[in-house]
Amino acid sequence: MGIIVQKFGGTSVADTDKIKNVASAVIKEKNNGNDVIVVVSAMGHTTDYLVKMANEISSKPNSREMDMLLATGEQVSIALLTMAIQAQGYAAVSMNAMQVGIITECVHSKARIVDIKTNKLKEHLNKGEIVVVAGFQGVTPDGEITTLGRGGSDTSAVAIAGALHADRCDIYTDVEGVYTTDPRIVPKATKLKEISYEEMLELAYVGANVLHPRSVETAKQYQVPLRVRSTFKLDDLGTYIIGVDEMEINRPVAGVASDLSQVRIVITDVPDRPGNAAKIFELLSEADISVDMIIQSYGRNDDTNDIAFTVGKVDYDKTMEIVKKAIKEINATNVLVDDDIAKVSIVGAGMVDRPGIAASMFKALAEAGINIKMISTSEIKISCLVERDQSNEAIKALHSAFHLDSKEEAVVMGDLPNL
Ligand code: ADP
Ligand code: ASP
Ligand code: MG
Repeated sequence: MGIIVQKFGGTSVADTDKIKNVASAVIKEKNNGNDVIVVVSAMGHTTDYLVKMANEISSKPNSREMDMLLATGEQVSIALLTMAIQAQGYAAVSMNAMQVGIITECVHSKARIVDIKTNKLKEHLNKGEIVVVAGFQGVTPDGEITTLGRGGSDTSAVAIAGALHADRCDIYTDVEGVYTTDPRIVPKATKLKEISYEEMLELAYVGANVLHPRSVETAKQYQVPLRVRSTFKLDDLGTYIIGVDEMEINRPVAGVASDLSQVRIVITDVPDRPGNAAKIFELLSEADISVDMIIQSYGRNDDTNDIAFTVGKVDYDKTMEIVKKAIKEINATNVLVDDDIAKVSIVGAGMVDRPGIAASMFKALAEAGINIKMISTSEIKISCLVERDQSNEAIKALHSAFHLDSKEEAVVMGDLPNL
């Protein structure tokens, strides 16, 4: 007997029949003798439709009102799932972020959780009830509604599991686990039995949206045993995310991912003086904008450089406002923008101390006729910026160059939104 947190994503609760199916999976876990907390996302593509409606009303919707709008999706699914559990004769109660006390900082659309109150959750569990919690939402100490960023329900689930010292957090989704790459791009992607927190964290940050990056960060920090598995194939064990020291790493590359959500900005002819780069990036960080890849290149003459960097498209408008101001202050000449880009990355704990991985990556891209615009590396990751329309080709080339193709095709449930 322990505490299990189950999280079900949008595809898993896309219609009322699927919600009834989820209720059965929850009850099965309860009948195993466990206390069960369930975290759910909004139904199907609800959040995408809410975003679309907001954009039809305004090109720059107010961020507080956006969170008020988006948080509604999860409230529908918690109530319906709770009714479905009750209809099968089990005691259950739904709770939104305010009722639980999922406290976040006051940043709209990408708030971080700072605290989770466990007293109410425990009260309900002690009464034998299944507790169904709205994912994705938070509340500030002043009572303002926030959201955790797209895909953030994973983080809600892991944070609750960490706060309650749960025995496991299971992320139920529309694929059977974590694969070597997105099985929608490479149907012959291989399902991994296990992957380390470190590799999963890098993969999530570079675009493998099967897990929200902060959920992996939180799982690692609080040592939450985490698993990704399929809602539609309950006999499959899925993928366990475990400590790197528990694994024998015998492959240099664990996975490949792409990220289409960035834009590249180049500031040309930045005078080569100490403090200029600091000025630009300090202003961006004060505005809460995360910068990803950065390259400073030698200029065409001795006393200037070009500085290129990438940011998320969501931060593009704010970034341009800041950069335009900054270039006047530092006497740079111009700003160039390229949003036709994709970042493709390979990740693997086994690439540490193994020379030649970068060379193999560049060769595979070259053989596929793909030009590299920017490169960045960390200890267990190499990323290349390429033309956006070559992204899938690049993923396929890298997947096969590092021998990750499987013989069987992955099963993917649910469609991508068609908005
Ligand atoms: P949910 O709504 O359940 O949270 P998501 O759409 O957020 O589901 O995440 C599941 C999707 O992640 C899969 O359908 C798959 O297309 C995508 N994905 C991307 N990279 C990977 C990967 N390496 N392994 C598994 N799925 C991946
Ligand atoms: N409903 C939110 C989204 O679609 C959160 C989530 O599903 O994790 O991004
Ligand atoms: Mg998700």
